[in-house]
Amino acid sequence: MILSLAAVVVTAVWFSERPGSVLIEWEGWLIQLSVGRFVLTAAVLLIASVFLLGLMGAVGKAPKKLREWRQSSRRERGYKALTNGMVAVAAGDPEEANRQARRANILLKEPPLTMLLSAQAAQLNGDEEAAARYFEEMLGRPETAFLGVRGLLIKAQKENNRQAALLYAERAYELQPKTAWVLNTMFDLQIAEGRWRAALATLDEADKRGAVGAASAQKRRAVVLLGCSEEADTAGDLSNALKFARRANTLAPDFLPAVLRIIDIMIRMGKARPASRFIQNAWARTPHPALASSYGEIGDGGNDALRRVKRLEKLLSFNPDHPESHIALAKAALQAKLWGEARKHLESAAGEDPSARVCRMMAELEERSGGNSENVRSWLIRASDAPPDAAWVCADCGAAWDEWTATCGSCDAFGSLAWEPPAHARALSLQVPDKEPSSLLLDDEISKGYESEIVDADVAENSKA
Ligand SMILES: [Zn+2]
Repeated sequence: MILSLAAVVVTAVWFSERPGSVLIEWEGWLIQLSVGRFVLTAAVLLIASVFLLGLMGAVGKAPKKLREWRQSSRRERGYKALTNGMVAVAAGDPEEANRQARRANILLKEPPLTMLLSAQAAQLNGDEEAAARYFEEMLGRPETAFLGVRGLLIKAQKENNRQAALLYAERAYELQPKTAWVLNTMFDLQIAEGRWRAALATLDEADKRGAVGAASAQKRRAVVLLGCSEEADTAGDLSNALKFARRANTLAPDFLPAVLRIIDIMIRMGKARPASRFIQNAWARTPHPALASSYGEIGDGGNDALRRVKRLEKLLSFNPDHPESHIALAKAALQAKLWGEARKHLESAAGEDPSARVCRMMAELEERSGGNSENVRSWLIRASDAPPDAAWVCADCGAAWDEWTATCGSCDAFGSLAWEPPAHARALSLQVPDKEPSSLLLDDEISKGYESEIVDADVAENSKA
């Protein structure tokens, strides 16, 4: 500024020191100016025209600039509405979520961004149908397909529509095969639907991708293989049913349900000898009443009560001190009406604190052998107060069951039931579920009752995917 001012001053001085005049003749006009004035006028005209041109340019560009400014401000407000809407969803404010969703929709005109918010706002308002429409729409766009299928899957689970949920889970798996929750959800649904072979494939995949811990996968696999055995059994394929059960047994030798299933299938296939050997081995490790029941039935034991007693005497020799051996023999003796034999073994099984089952068998013995009714009554009263017997106890919730199932009927935990001895069951302060107990705990029929687990998902995180 100072430099240009100095230049002007120097120029003015230079011209004033060198006087002269400029003559302009134009259209009959004659203008005579001193050199100094001429230079000044020319400079003023030049500056004025530069300023004017600049002004005209700026005015010409103004509409475009204005448009750009309005667009960016609109987008900014749209994003703000989107953010506020997400916050409202998280805070559970349906009206605000709805308002912001509509606002974002109008301002942004980018459906992939706003559809999720609209769907969530509709869900908060309890309008599941509208939410489903948004999710379906999202399903049609590659960038939002996964979010759409996830929304529909969660909705199907909430409605307890397992078949639909499984279809959506399979679709989600096609889209994102590496996602842990997809694999785990699909696995749970396949189990609930009794699709064991599919569940086995999913488990292998989940194991490979690290979606489930190695130890947990191993434990689950044995239970799933048992399910596959059941599936083959239902289809009348006993040979494959046995193969699957054997695989489960190889994987987890102490998994008693697999042992029981192998024996059951072997007997049905007429493989009496290997079945007997299998039971003898199992009896030495875990004497379960169902093993004794099967052992007694093999050969003519099913029809001949005395022969059954003989067979169970042999079984006792594989675990002679275990109360369960004596209970098994007492039961056979009761059926054969060998009252003295039955009493002897019941007393051996009873010890100092007989379990409820032993007390009930004592009552039965007194009644059938013609003992006095006072004795019968006293044993029954004692049974109601006696320590509980061994049972299938859920490691997760402690519920005890007469029969093994793959899923706990109380807490839905998968593969959580284990055969627990009485003391352990007592320590867990046994809570016996509301159902009629089978009096002698000899029923090894496997019942099913699976329920899906609702996966509560947080979808907001992937909104910009
Ligand atoms: Zn449970």
